[in-house]
Amino acid sequence: MKRVYFITAMVGLVCIAVLPIHYYINGMTVYSYGPSTIATYLFTLIFIISTIIEAVRSHGLASKRRRRTILLWQGTWLLAALIQLFFPNLLLVGIAAAFGMVLIYAELENPHEGVDRMTGQYTANALIDYLNYLYNAGKTFAAIDLWFIRQNRDKIVKSDTHLATQIADYLNGLAGGIVFRVSGDQFAIIFQTSLEMEAAYECIDSELRNRFEPMIDIKCMLVADSRVVNNVNEFLHIHNYFLPELEGKKYLMVDQAAVKGISEYAKTREMIESAISDDRVEVFFQPIYDVKENKFSSAEALVRIRDKEGNIIPPGRFIPIAEETGQIIPLGEEIFRQVCDLRKKEDITLLGVRYIEVNLSVVQFDQESLASDFIAIMKEYQIPPSKINLEITETASTNAKRILMLNMTSLIDYGVRFSLDDFGTGRSNLDYFVDMPVDIIKFDNGFTWAYFKSQKARCVMESVVSMVKRMGLQIVSEGVETKEQLETMCSLGVDYIQGYYFSKPIPREEFLEFVRIKNAG
Ligand code: C2E
Ligand code: CA
Ligand code: CA
Repeated sequence: MKRVYFITAMVGLVCIAVLPIHYYINGMTVYSYGPSTIATYLFTLIFIISTIIEAVRSHGLASKRRRRTILLWQGTWLLAALIQLFFPNLLLVGIAAAFGMVLIYAELENPHEGVDRMTGQYTANALIDYLNYLYNAGKTFAAIDLWFIRQNRDKIVKSDTHLATQIADYLNGLAGGIVFRVSGDQFAIIFQTSLEMEAAYECIDSELRNRFEPMIDIKCMLVADSRVVNNVNEFLHIHNYFLPELEGKKYLMVDQAAVKGISEYAKTREMIESAISDDRVEVFFQPIYDVKENKFSSAEALVRIRDKEGNIIPPGRFIPIAEETGQIIPLGEEIFRQVCDLRKKEDITLLGVRYIEVNLSVVQFDQESLASDFIAIMKEYQIPPSKINLEITETASTNAKRILMLNMTSLIDYGVRFSLDDFGTGRSNLDYFVDMPVDIIKFDNGFTWAYFKSQKARCVMESVVSMVKRMGLQIVSEGVETKEQLETMCSLGVDYIQGYYFSKPIPREEFLEFVRIKNAG
């Protein structure tokens, strides 16, 4: 078609140039006529009509905005010519041509490169200008950062530009949004309110995804409030910053918590990493009191990290992240080694301590090799398995439970015993310990405290205690802080007491000193 248009245009020019033209001059009036003039009108008509046809035909290829501009310009021109044909005195064609120039300049071209020449969308430059204006004027806004990823390259015949144009057209139709094409496959849509943004995302999620998935993957980051970051630079940084977070997800809500959470997550991951490599992982021990024997017959190993300044970081700050990053595996091994090391270097049995309780997270039990790894460590340190008690909590997934059971069976066969931790928190419940091969149930701090708060909790506690006893299991009550709590738990028939009343978790040497003195009498 390009060639046809080119040849037609050339023929037109030659015709106009070589065909004879006549003038009629009467004072101020000049009127041209003859074959050249007719050729001019004819070829102009061809030009206008073919432009209109092309504009209509390019549906989906050129943006709506460009096509609309072209159709408006050419339509005006055609109308003006028709009118002038019947009322030659009006001279409308010249005005229509001028109007067309202005229209094209305003809509399609612009000196600041605010509009993309290919697709007719606002550009990344325009976005920066606009965001600068919004932040400087203190205006809040909401935004969607949307991009698409082609799934199967060879299956797609249409070009990326074609796809981008179609998506841009769709986005332009969303209520309240201003669309910017940030790069070839990325758009930013700015809204005045988060409500508009949410409504738009709902449309994208249903309509746009329906239309294009699975051919392309559409990913979105939603910023409901522009104040989560402070300026344009930070705003533009959001995309790269959160990109890894979107792995496997369709969208991500970038809110205050996410911005804060992400940086803290990275910091903690680094902190754990360096603590493991610089030997700053420390295991504290909390003595556990044996009611019947009236001495401290065991202890729970509780990990801490010492930061570079020497301050102690509690496990609540890093264990959940270590579980997410998988660092709990090397960390858990280091903790277990330190426990075995204590047992090997000090004869704690002589001090009256029969075994040490070690916490294992659900993630550790996801490893099929856990049992053999831990058995290998015990052999390396020559630790009899009866000196170790592993604390576990409930897992939700059945597959994890299957691997947990396999690991537990191997370890129990080897001679290790298990405690069910956090009973009464929702992480460990009645139905769970019924079929788990555990010897000890540990009442969570909160469960212990609840007993003193309500009549109902008292009933629950009393029947749980008698049920556990009938099953032949033992009970540790955690979180005992006062004499009253101690006496009540003892009278209930709890076997072991753990809590600040006796001691907080303390460093290794302090712990040895503690049991040496307390168990002496
Ligand atoms: P947990 O296993 O339930 O450990 C008991 C927590 O209660 C400990 O907190 C302990 O210091 C605290 N506690 C003990 N007695 C009292 C008391 O009388 N009053 C109060 N208010 N608190 C008491 P800690 O050491 O901060 O550990 C928190 C959690 O971190 C542990 O809860 C456990 O889930 C996890 N954790 C600690 N060490 C390890 C570890 O080596 N491996 C794994 N996987 N998780 C660990
Ligand atoms: Ca525990
Ligand atoms: Ca516990």
